[in-house]
Amino acid sequence: MLEPTSATLGSWFAFARNHLDDADARALSEAAFGVNYSQLIAGTEIPVPNSQIELLRNFVRRRLDGEPVAYIVGTRGFWRREFCVSPDTLIPRPETETLIETVLPFLTSESRVLDVGTGSGALGLTIALETGARVLMTDVSCGALNVAAQNAEELKIDVQLRKSNWYDNVDGAFDCIVSNPPYVASSDKHLQNGDLLSEPLIALDGGIDGLDALRIVVGGASAYLRQGGRLAVEHGYDQAEAVYTLFQAAGFQCIALVRDLNHQPRVTHGVL
Ligand code: GLN
Repeated sequence: MLEPTSATLGSWFAFARNHLDDADARALSEAAFGVNYSQLIAGTEIPVPNSQIELLRNFVRRRLDGEPVAYIVGTRGFWRREFCVSPDTLIPRPETETLIETVLPFLTSESRVLDVGTGSGALGLTIALETGARVLMTDVSCGALNVAAQNAEELKIDVQLRKSNWYDNVDGAFDCIVSNPPYVASSDKHLQNGDLLSEPLIALDGGIDGLDALRIVVGGASAYLRQGGRLAVEHGYDQAEAVYTLFQAAGFQCIALVRDLNHQPRVTHGVL
């Protein structure tokens, strides 16, 4: 890699931009130098220490090796907050904010909410922070639960975290259940591309038709919802019909589909 001769913010940001696309170069430079975007573009002549240059070099190399930016910097923004992520968790995506938008109008500080398969905790913690609801978050992965616990601590929010394979270790009746389960079909080529390659397969792979986890989450929900309670799940853009059928078979009413910001079918919810 051809490197700049001067140790200034501007020349090393230019170095990053020579090797990466603009958004990645910007995010990694901001993280390595501990600056925001305006400081980055205004600071052309500002000197930077060798330790930070070494960090940026390391970040750029890892990115070129295919590591997702979110794992390199350790965080990703979701619903106006930063969440820690690790290779034990999926990287929160904008389309999952559609699920938050879907359930918020139905929740109050009196609500009891269950987030099954919480990963980094982005869903459950956002709901707790936005509504004051009491939230139980579960995951089968201890690594993911550790990240969720770290996020709860950093966001100073009191939630319950529990190791559980879907509903196996859950009891009680909730007002709302949310989940972003693995829903990508095992044979889907996307699993071999981009960020998905580095993300935990257990959080992405939904079996032959991608619906294995959705069958468990939708099929099992009624035992953990009070009468009139709501289930909302994220799913693939081409799974809306199949998920509708699962909701019907599980006894849900008022089943509705919500599209994400790209107008793709993304969330289905219904009332028990
Ligand atoms: N939305 C993710 C993707 O296909 C999949 C997330 C999931 O399986 N829950 O990029």
